[in-house]
Amino acid sequence: MKKTKAKLARAAWRDAIIIFGISAALLAYFISVEAFEYVVEFSDSHESWELDEILTLLMVLPAALAIFSWRRVKETRSELIARIEAENRAQQMALHDPLTGLPNRRHIKQEIDKLLADADRSPVAVMMLDLNRFKATNDLLGHLVGDQLLIGVAERLTEASGPQAVVSRLGGDEFVVLLPDAPKGEALLAKVEQISEAFDKPFELESSIVSAGASIGVTFIDTAGVNSEIALSQADAAMYGCKAKGSNGFRFFEAGMEEASIRRAELETQLAQAIPENQIRPYYQPLVNLSTGEVVGFEVLARWHRDDGEVRMPGEFIPIAEDTGMICELYYSLLRQAAEDVKHWPPELSFSINLSPIQFSDEWLIERTLQILSEAGIAPGRLEIEITENALVKDVEVARKVIEDFKRQRIRVALDDFGTGYSSLRHLNELEFDKLKIDRSFIRDLEFNESSQTIVRTITSLAHNLGLEVTVEGIESTLNADTLIGYGCDLGQGYLYGKPGKATFAHDGKDGYGARKDGAEKVA
Ligand code: C2E
Ligand code: CA
Ligand code: CA
Repeated sequence: MKKTKAKLARAAWRDAIIIFGISAALLAYFISVEAFEYVVEFSDSHESWELDEILTLLMVLPAALAIFSWRRVKETRSELIARIEAENRAQQMALHDPLTGLPNRRHIKQEIDKLLADADRSPVAVMMLDLNRFKATNDLLGHLVGDQLLIGVAERLTEASGPQAVVSRLGGDEFVVLLPDAPKGEALLAKVEQISEAFDKPFELESSIVSAGASIGVTFIDTAGVNSEIALSQADAAMYGCKAKGSNGFRFFEAGMEEASIRRAELETQLAQAIPENQIRPYYQPLVNLSTGEVVGFEVLARWHRDDGEVRMPGEFIPIAEDTGMICELYYSLLRQAAEDVKHWPPELSFSINLSPIQFSDEWLIERTLQILSEAGIAPGRLEIEITENALVKDVEVARKVIEDFKRQRIRVALDDFGTGYSSLRHLNELEFDKLKIDRSFIRDLEFNESSQTIVRTITSLAHNLGLEVTVEGIESTLNADTLIGYGCDLGQGYLYGKPGKATFAHDGKDGYGARKDGAEKVA
């Protein structure tokens, strides 16, 4: 912009000099042809004509012309500057993302194509980065916080990638980092690690502190003939490969990854159909009173019964449902199906259902939950909501409101997977849970791991002091059960008592409560 202005100023000076030159030349011409004497003579001989006015006019004319022209030139120049500035702004907008100011998809594709033309001489690394659970942050904490987070990500990414890199935002929470003249092997790995580690620290935004893990896919191109479409699709596939592992970090592109990312996209489409068709069904796993061995209720766990007869586990589709926002409809569908089953159970049996933190932003959550229960004639007191202890529940106020709303309706709320998130104690202190479920990772090697024993014992007494009931997950052996009874834990859940199963209650009651043997899952 500065350059354009300087050019225009130079041109204005040039024009001014030309105009003054012409005016001066005109004046000189008048003088040289003795035009003034001629006019004076003419005026003397025609005194009655009062030619002195004409004379003055003639003398003033070049000066007036010069001033007028100078002003016109100035006006034209400023119009031109305004037009050029508007064009530049439009260009900037067409090629840049307005929120972060980074180059946009169109721009980065041009850049990639430019660099790839020379890739055989100067290799290029293209990295695709996607924030994990960004939608949840956006929904949970609001768009303003989401925007602040994206700006923070843009800044952090630009800093971590170094001055040679081109960082761009493709849209949503997807960013691309382009490394021209990319290093190979270990050096590239170190660079990617450095960028990935930039996301380890939470982002301190104006109103909240947010952790934003990222999945990064990297493709390294050192041959000619690859274009931006291919490079981006490879980086995208590698990024999905990283997401499929369910963790933050990075992966390099390998052959076959593109098919996997296409499969995920297909799964997304199929899931959208499967939910209204009730292909996602509730399975039930018993919850047992540890000291009496009596079944007190069941946890609803989602299973996808596909057309081809395959049954998919929640780990394969819940993250997709969360990422796409389909989790809300999935919850209602499961709750409705479960309510139809529960209405045939003895009234003392409760049932619990998992709630994703994304659903906190569903303004109809409580109303629709109550409506489904009332349509099936089930007292709200029989339902329990399980909320996973999730690093995302940073805005405690949102969680508090939902929990209070449920409790006001006599629906109990449990804190699930306790001990796996880092802000557990804060949640426990600030939110009014009824129950705490100790994560099964502490139970796996309970008898051999002293620190697991200490943790389970301490959590149990802490929870009891706070007036909370304690359920322990993942009980697989009587040894586990005996140890936990010794610690004073209240309820237990695990393969020892029953695997998740299709039918929950033998209507004749003879088999007692529990997953019906023919309906229970086989577990490897
Ligand atoms: P979760 O809520 O912690 O559920 C318990 C998980 O532990 C279940 O896995 C269950 O099958 C497994 N499990 C129970 N007892 C044992 C045991 O003795 N040993 C071992 N090794 N595992 C045991 P599942 O059904 O695969 O569900 C995984 C997770 O998916 C659930 O963990 C829950 O977080 C999520 N999930 C399942 N259904 C839903 C749903 O409808 N909505 C939401 N938002 N999440 C769901
Ligand atoms: Ca659960
Ligand atoms: Ca759990």
